[in-house]
Formats: sequence, structure tokens, C-alpha cells
Amino acid sequence: MYIFDLQLTNYRNYVRSAIKLEKGLNLFVGDNAQGKSNLLEAVYLLSTLRSSRASSDSDLVRRDILASDFPVARLSAEVERSAGNLQLDLAIVGRTTDPSHRAGKRVRVNGVPRKASDAVGQLCAVLFTTLDIEIVAGPPLMRRRYLDMMISQVDRGYLRAMQKYAKVLQQRNSLLKRIQNREAGVHELNFWDQELAHAGGLIFWARADALGHVVPQAMMQMERLSDGLEQLQLTYRPSLGGLDERDAPIDDSEWTARMLKALQNLRTREVGAGATLVGPHRDDVQVEIDGMPADSFASRAQQRTAALSMRLAEASYLRRALGDDPVVLLDDVLSELDARRRRGVLEYIDTFQQTLVTTADPDRLREVMTRAASRFVVQAGAVTRFEGE
Ligand code: ATP
Ligand code: MG
Repeated sequence: MYIFDLQLTNYRNYVRSAIKLEKGLNLFVGDNAQGKSNLLEAVYLLSTLRSSRASSDSDLVRRDILASDFPVARLSAEVERSAGNLQLDLAIVGRTTDPSHRAGKRVRVNGVPRKASDAVGQLCAVLFTTLDIEIVAGPPLMRRRYLDMMISQVDRGYLRAMQKYAKVLQQRNSLLKRIQNREAGVHELNFWDQELAHAGGLIFWARADALGHVVPQAMMQMERLSDGLEQLQLTYRPSLGGLDERDAPIDDSEWTARMLKALQNLRTREVGAGATLVGPHRDDVQVEIDGMPADSFASRAQQRTAALSMRLAEASYLRRALGDDPVVLLDDVLSELDARRRRGVLEYIDTFQQTLVTTADPDRLREVMTRAASRFVVQAGAVTRFEGE
């Protein structure tokens, strides 16, 4: 798929911009703090309905209008897809003093209002940023987020299971605390164990299934980018209190059964802790480079290459799951790579229909300049097309 028209209104530092994009590589050049990352964040936001970096919806609304009666940012995209063309409109309403205006996101798919969970992944994108190194060097949460953002774009059932799981987990944890304080009986856990293990089983299964594709892809990319010098290993570590040692279950009901057993085994400890100690909310993916844990042993460049390989694997996973190409977004990542890795990334990315690349340093990206189907300058929240050098 590819975006041919993108419109941003009162979003971040954009007052009003309409951008005609091309198939192939679209290059955005601009000095620091002009709006390059904001632009790619906008595309990612349209695809996941979650910001890659904002903590609240109000951050996304242009600051100058936040105090107005109806502070709303609007993002629209027109997309050509093999599943049929798409018109996507997102309105983000910031904090309001007027109680008749509800803050939050509203989305229309082909003109029809939709729930956020039904609009996720209509436009599918994969975002590479300089913060991706955290997938390898950061805490387990970063790797769970990597899986969640990837899978939920192509699997609506996964998104629903995640939402259900989060709700049940909260209720079960507060029940555990009440049992601890002798305000509730242990038998009350039975119902919540079932609920949690049911949603949990779906999540475990989907993650294992996704990793079945992602792991070999990421290994292959790492090998390619490092000219066969470095080996990446990824191993799913589902949180099952030791019951994960055996062969991986073959379907979600087996995962559910295993999780139920883990919950039973740990019941006394969980009541003591007042918290749920096993389940997808504690999963991890172990990352090793040349057989050593990547977070504590690998060099920064190795970590960066591993993260890059995982993003390339994500792009490949999305393409397979979708039967169509996701839009590839590269925010500032090419300029921090050496020439060989850059070439390695570009060669693979070239097989996708559309890529949006940003850089503050076009001199380092001569080869990207010459390949680009279209080039833009981003300055103070305005995007203008330019030809030539
Ligand atoms: P760099 O090269 O440093 O990565 P960039 O071009 O990617 O820069 P952005 O991260 O897109 O820059 O940010 C551009 C500007 O947008 C920043 O100066 C920031 O203060 C501004 N900005 C962010 N949110 C808002 C908002 N809600 N309203 C107005 N301006 C905003
Ligand atoms: Mg930036």
C-alpha cells in the first residue's frame, strides 16, 4: 500500500499542510526541530492510533490553539491498497473547558465513524527511529511493545484480547489484595483465573506465532547487515512460572491450560504478593548476539544493528500477514549507519511500495537523494517539494 495524499491541520507544529506523496522513496530534509519526526509520527498515528512518543492527546494538538474553545488536530490520508482504497480521517480533541466536547480521538474510515480498535491497521506502517535501540538494550516492556504494536496492526482479535487482559488483570490484582487483607475469599479467584488465562492464551499464542516468522527473518537481516560477521538470536520467554520449559503449545487453548496451571501453582505466592506473577504482561524476548545477552555484552553499534534487523523483520511480518506492503517510515536512522549497513537497509526497503525517509544531514545521504522519487524540505511546520540537488 502507499499514501498519495496526506493532510495535517493544527497538529504539532503544523498549521495546515497538504502533501502529495509518491510511490517509492520520499525524502524529507530539514534542520533540527522543523517537524520531520512530527510528520512520520502523524503517519504512524494514523496507522496505530497511538503516538510513537506523545504521552497525552493534548501534546498532539498545536499549542497555539490549545486554549481555544475547540482545540482539535486533524490528520487525513488517502491510501491505495490491494484491499481497496482508503480514506482515513483522525480528529484529536485536546483538553476542553466546554463539557459538551469530549476530549480524545475520533476516527473515520472511508467517511464512516469507527471505533479506534476497528481502525487500527487500516493503514499499515512500520516506524524506524533512533530510539529503537531500546528494543534490544531496554527493559522487557520495550520488547513486549514491539510485539504488541506489530501484531495488533494485522490482528484485531489480538487487540481485543489485550484490552480484555488488561482489564481482567487489574480486577484480579485488586482481588488478590483484598484476599491478602482478608476482605475476600480465595475461591473468588477461580472465575478471574479462567478469564485471565483465556485472554492470556490468545496473547501467548499470537506472540509465539508472530515470532515464528520474525525470528528467522531478523536473524537473516542481521547476517546480511553485518556481512555474516554477527549472529542474532531471539528466543521467546513466555512468563509461565517455569512451565515454559517444555515444548511450546500448539494452539491458544493449550497456552490457556498452561497458564491456568501456572496460576494454580503460584496461588499462595500471588496472594502473598498481592499481584499476578505470571502471564503475558511479564513476557520477554531474549536477545543474544553471538551467544551473549545483547543488553549487557553487545556494543552500541551491534545493538543498533540488531534493532534494525528486528524492524526489518517486522516489515516482512506485516507484509506477509497483510498480503500487501506496509508503508516504511525511517526517521533519522540512515544517517547514523555506516555505508554498508545503509546500503543493506535500502536494498531491502526498496522492495516495499513506499518509504518516507527523514534527515537533517542530506550530504551524508547522497545516494538516497538520487534514488528518491520525490524530495521535500521541512521548515517550521511547512513542507515544500523541491527538484534537483
Ligand atoms: P530533529 O532533526 O531534531 O529530529 P525534527 O524536524 O524531527 O527535528 P520534530 O521532532 O518534528 O523536529 O519537532 C519540531 C517542533 O515541533 C519542535 O520544535 C517542537 O517543539 C514542536 N512541537 C511539538 N509538539 C508541538 C505542539 N503540540 N504544538 C506546537 N509545536 C509543537
Ligand atoms: Mg526528528
